[in-house]
Amino acid sequence: MRIPLVAANWKMHKTRGEAASFVSAALPQLASAQGVEVVLCPPYTALETVGRLLSGSRVRLGAQNVHWERQGAYTGEVSAGMLADLGCAYVIVGHSERRRMFGDTDERVRRKVRAAFDAGLVPILCVGETLEERQAGQTESRVTAQVAEGTADLTAEEVGRLVVAYEPVWAIGTGQAASGEEAGRVNGVIREFLRQRFGAAADATRIQYGGSVTSRNAAEFLGQPEVDGALVGGASLDPEEFVTIVRAAGA
Ligand code: PEP
Repeated sequence: MRIPLVAANWKMHKTRGEAASFVSAALPQLASAQGVEVVLCPPYTALETVGRLLSGSRVRLGAQNVHWERQGAYTGEVSAGMLADLGCAYVIVGHSERRRMFGDTDERVRRKVRAAFDAGLVPILCVGETLEERQAGQTESRVTAQVAEGTADLTAEEVGRLVVAYEPVWAIGTGQAASGEEAGRVNGVIREFLRQRFGAAADATRIQYGGSVTSRNAAEFLGQPEVDGALVGGASLDPEEFVTIVRAAGA
């Protein structure tokens, strides 16, 4: 039985004060939601503030990116060990905005996933096809290739703890979500691929959907047997909106 995971990706939004206001408004409802795990992924600058406010609650802290090396001359970068030290339990890896704008190749993503597990973090591995790839009939091959590379260094036990977020690039921040049925279908393709490569461990892997999830369409995705939660961008910035999505995922 997989417990769905709903993660808020705040991207480059919210100062420490704004992040604290969100947590005071939403924490009681988020912490009491049953049958769902909740993760907040603020920008690096608000991690410590949010972590302090979440401490002692069931809501977990996550980061939005990580470097693959443990330490060194990498100006502006942050290691997985540093994130663990701040109390992070999760880290988003390979988000399409990082792949598109900041040079995250499949190979870098593979190394980041490894670094996350090595530091005791659980990576949320983002995969998804572009509109051009979808129109060319390459959705399954692209997504499968990203999952293959992202998990290449993992053991079956790690794959069982991994979170994959299927996020079609054309659906992110556009208001044009996939249909629940299509999200469930692609998630099923991902699970089947993981099963073939890692065996029964893949039955425990949580595979989220992400891409223009809102309080209005959340139930359509979360009702799919192969959709184990959501990675939420824009709609996670508003406490009421995010709480409604979390409740839709819960028991
Ligand atoms: C995301 O950033 O992962 C995302 C899914 O964004 P949005 O919900 O805004 O489409």
